[in-house]
This record gives sequence, C-alpha cells and structure tokens, in this order.
Amino acid sequence: MSAISFPTKQLNSLSTPCYFYDMVVLEQTLATIKREVAAYKNYEVHYAVKANANPRILRAISAAGLGADCVSGGEIRAAIEAGFPGSKVVFAGVGKADWEIRLGLEHDICCFNVESVPELEVINQLAAEADKVARVAFRINPDVGAHTHANITTGLAENKFGISMRDMEYVIQLAKQMEHVHFVGLHFHIGSQILEMDDFVALSHRVNELQEQLETAGVKVESINVGGGLGIDYQQPTLHPVPNFADYFATYANNLKLRPGQSLHFELGRSIVGQCGALLSRVLYVKQGTNKQFAILDAGMTDLIRPALYQAHHSILNLTSEEPAQTYDVVGPICESSDVFAKGVMLPAAKRGDLFALLSAGAYGEIMASKYNCRSLPQAYYSDEIVKD
Ligand SMILES: *Cc1c(COP(=O)(O)O)cnc(C)c1O
Repeated sequence: MSAISFPTKQLNSLSTPCYFYDMVVLEQTLATIKREVAAYKNYEVHYAVKANANPRILRAISAAGLGADCVSGGEIRAAIEAGFPGSKVVFAGVGKADWEIRLGLEHDICCFNVESVPELEVINQLAAEADKVARVAFRINPDVGAHTHANITTGLAENKFGISMRDMEYVIQLAKQMEHVHFVGLHFHIGSQILEMDDFVALSHRVNELQEQLETAGVKVESINVGGGLGIDYQQPTLHPVPNFADYFATYANNLKLRPGQSLHFELGRSIVGQCGALLSRVLYVKQGTNKQFAILDAGMTDLIRPALYQAHHSILNLTSEEPAQTYDVVGPICESSDVFAKGVMLPAAKRGDLFALLSAGAYGEIMASKYNCRSLPQAYYSDEIVKD
C-alpha cells in the first residue's frame, strides 16, 4: 500500500491554501474495502457523505459501488449528482426538514433512519401525500460509550441522538400501524475515530440483546446498520495509509449474530477518505516568540478546523526544506487563539515560502471549511490531474 505522495515540483505551482487528494490512495482504500467485505454475505458499505462531499471524491466512491449515507437534503443531492442510485442512499439526522424528507421520497431512497416519534409521524404524512411507502429504520441509542473525544461520542444516553432502548418496541409497533411507512431495521452509530475494536464488540453485544428482545416480541428485522466510526492513524499516516478493514469487519462477523436473510450495513466516512487528502499551505512568516518560534501559515482553522475543534493531531511535513530540524508552533492567520495546528513540533528549518503539508486531512477537512474572516474557501486539486505522464 502506498502512502500519499507529493509531486513537489507540480505542487509548487499551486496557489495555497488548497487541498490535495491522492486518488491512488483513495482507490487502494476502496479496493481494500471491496475485497474485505466480499468475504461476507449480506454486508453492505455506505459512504458517510458528511466526511467529504467533494464531487470528484464522491464520484470515485460511487463508481466503486458503495452506497451513500446522507445527513441532509444537500447531501442527498450531492450523492445523486455523483451517481449514487437512490436505492443505495440512506438518510439520517435528528432534524430532517419537510423538503428534505420529500426529496428522499422523490428518489425512493433505501431507508430513512428515524430518530424520534414526531419525525416518524411527519414521514408517514409526507409519504401519504406522495402516495409512497417510506422504508424506515430506527436509530437506537445503545448507551455504549466509545473511547474517543467527548465531542464525537454519540451513543451515550446523554447524547441527543436516537431513540432510547426502552422506547424501541413501542416505536416499532407505532410504525407498524402506519400505512405509509415500512419498518426495515435498526440503526446505530456510537461515535467517530474509534480505534478500539472492543467498542464495536460492545455495540455488537448490545445489538444481540436487542435482537433477542425483538424476536421474543415477534418483530421481524430485515437489516441492521451499525453506523461508522472506524478511526485512522493520524500519528503515523505514512505507515498506515489504509485502515485495518479486515479486523473491523471480522470484529462484527465474530460478535454480531445476524439472523438468516438479514443484511448488515456499515456507514464509513473518515476511514474511507481521511488518508487520501492533505492540506497544503505556505509559510508566510517565521516569527521569533519569547521562548518559542512560530511558523505562520497561510492556512488556518477556516481551512481545517479539526485541531481547533477537537484538539486533533495532524502530522505536518515541510515539503521544501531539508535543513536540520527546529521546533515550531505551527499556526494560522485567523484572529482566534485556537487557530493552532501544532505546538512544539520538530520540522526541517522553515523559511518564508516553504510548502507545508498537513496530512490525514481528507475527512472533515475541506467540507468543514468556512469563510470566517472573509476568507476564500480552499481550492482542491487531484493527483491524477496534476501529474500527467
Ligand atoms: C458521522 C456519521 C457516520 C460516519 O462516521 P465516521 O466516523 O466518519 O466513519 C456514520 N453514520 C452516522 C449516522 C454519522 O452521523
């Protein structure tokens, strides 16, 4: 497996800040998923569009045959435009607006992941108006913690997501009485950037318990959706450009008991696109502080917000310099103290104009960019368009 590679000569001509996507890394990741998932019958992988909705990235993923997991009407549009068939689109989210539900109905999407009773009632009503039957799954809050950052755990009772286990049977019975919804299954998602397979084991055990409960009640479940959350190696991206999908799928295969004919759905975001993207930026100034030195970049938290938002780590390379290393705080130009990419990192001695790469920025990078401080959104470039040989 090759890690992201930087054609430095060609990249030097790009204006920064910008995103650079290595399409070979993305293709290798997709090929690995397809190979690993093929070992199991009835496993289906959907891509969580929210991680990166760049049209070229979406097209590559739809061409690989994956489905799309959307959390807004805009994402449904982006997925359909990129070639995902409506039949492979699922729609999740705690606050679906009427127009978004109608859009999903129009495209006959595979499933609405429903998070509350009022939402179920609205879907039933809008489906009736459209003379359709909406397939629905219930997102159940499994009260399973994940060993990840507090802001990205979603499966605890205290989080806003999902329906409580206590209400599960009641909402399913409610759906069965409605004419324009068809209950297909259960949906879960416990968080993101999860590297401990034990967290997925815990979710599997919870699913098994709930399945037994429903079996006793005589409820038939067609599909189970365990969400996404598989993490990537932000510390050593070049050693692990492709996540360990084999382990991930095997963890579910070994722990989650599917019933005959049931399908198991996955919604992977970060693990599919995280390692193929980098944020490129130039050094504007090297500034001597009281007892440290700053490398001030032309990229900031408006281009990549993860360090400011989640104290996330991104490995940084100086693509220009081969000088002996020095210690830097790498910061952006935005008027916020949290606009810091890294503190006290060793990098080859930097000077004005050097090209820096912030690695593992393919997920929750470009898509979260903002115009704060009246900045422009970063451009994107692709390895197969830059290097032509
Ligand atoms: C964000 C999200 C995902 C994808 O999470 P990753 O950590 O990027 O894999 C999947 N399902 C739902 C419901 C989500 O909200």
